[in-house]
Amino acid sequence: MLARKFNIPAFSTGDMFRAAIAAETPVGREVKSVMERGDLVGDELVNKLVFERLDEPDCADGVILDGYPRTVTQAEALDAWLTDHHLHLDKIFELVVDEKMLVQRRAGRLYAPKSKRVYHISFNPPKEAGICDESGEPLIVREDDQPAVVQHRLEVYREQTSPVIAYYKVQNRHVAVDGMADIDAVYATIMGELPA
Ligand code: AMP
Repeated sequence: MLARKFNIPAFSTGDMFRAAIAAETPVGREVKSVMERGDLVGDELVNKLVFERLDEPDCADGVILDGYPRTVTQAEALDAWLTDHHLHLDKIFELVVDEKMLVQRRAGRLYAPKSKRVYHISFNPPKEAGICDESGEPLIVREDDQPAVVQHRLEVYREQTSPVIAYYKVQNRHVAVDGMADIDAVYATIMGELPA
């Protein structure tokens, strides 16, 4: 919704890795088992992919990053890259959801690999069961959305990702958004925080 509103790309590092795995590229082969376990891909590789993508011309008017930065090391590298390019982050949004609900949401999540649309079997179902509204492709369940892997991803989040919040609080860029609210309310809150 934000990408459409601002007419800028939105990209998710997770989507980039899933595409690399599907295409069986060297990066895909390197990250497959790490992702299936629910661990984080190494900072150096993630940063390299993100900076290459940010250098593409469609990012010139801005970009929405999803799932990145996920460690303080990534946040520091992104800041250095932005400074070098005379750019800055407007805001960093933390979507706050309680852990029980996160596991439930993951358990029913359906993913469209080509269009990258995400659905949920009961909270946000597609119009036709198992089919993406936008692309008509079959929806899949992500391997790393199994409850045991989600539990591990939450531990990884607590240990490696949550320090990123403090990093951006110091910069006054962090905004906590109630991620338990519905999609339209989350969108409205984020819009209210962004420069017009
Ligand atoms: P996501 O689609 O954002 O849930 O990411 C899925 C998986 O991709 C994560 O569990 C990690 O294995 C990997 N990944 C995505 N983004 C990053 C990142 N910024 N740093 C390290 N690993 C990442």
